[in-house]
Amino acid sequence: TPTIGVLALQGDVREHRAALEAAGARTVALRRDSELDAVDGIVIPGGESTTMSRLLRVFDLLEPLRARLKEGLPAYGSCAGMILLATEVLDTRSDAEHLDALDITVRRNAFGRQVDSFETDLDMSGVDGGPVRAVFIRAPWVERVGSGIEVLARVPQGPAEGRVVAVRQDGVFATSFHPEVTGDLRVHRLFVEAVRSHAGAR
Ligand code: GLN
Repeated sequence: TPTIGVLALQGDVREHRAALEAAGARTVALRRDSELDAVDGIVIPGGESTTMSRLLRVFDLLEPLRARLKEGLPAYGSCAGMILLATEVLDTRSDAEHLDALDITVRRNAFGRQVDSFETDLDMSGVDGGPVRAVFIRAPWVERVGSGIEVLARVPQGPAEGRVVAVRQDGVFATSFHPEVTGDLRVHRLFVEAVRSHAGAR
């Protein structure tokens, strides 16, 4: 059974732990760099990316986590977690840090005031059994993907039609939306399987 750390500085930690455990992983709430050695993968939850960025520095986790990601630690970020995993972030605070684990440019709070929170069904590559209910809460979207990035999902219709909202690069995943709040475990299962095969290959 893989052990997955859920970054527990801020955000919807409990929902991710519940979904990961239901999907067959062991989880730990991760707050210290020493705990990084014991995990096979990490989830960065939704919440507020600039606050999480500040807390990563306060808890001396920023550099150790960046280093572990660079070594190939599998990771999944939802919403604020997507922002933190990116190499470039638009419309954020100038002092906000990110982890440079996914070669993408993300626009924070991209959907704007009118429709800042909404739900839609979308098809997600790698997830079988029909569309995923995607819950967007002041979500980012992806404006640029690097050459190694696989696009897993786009907004299917409406003013943001075609915008990229789920990506993957090897063992690193990110979604603009929050599968941890819907009870549909398929996205978490996809990540748990990626962590399992990465841990098995080591
Ligand atoms: N708007 C938040 C941010 O910029 C993300 C929102 C979320 O994670 N639900 O960090």
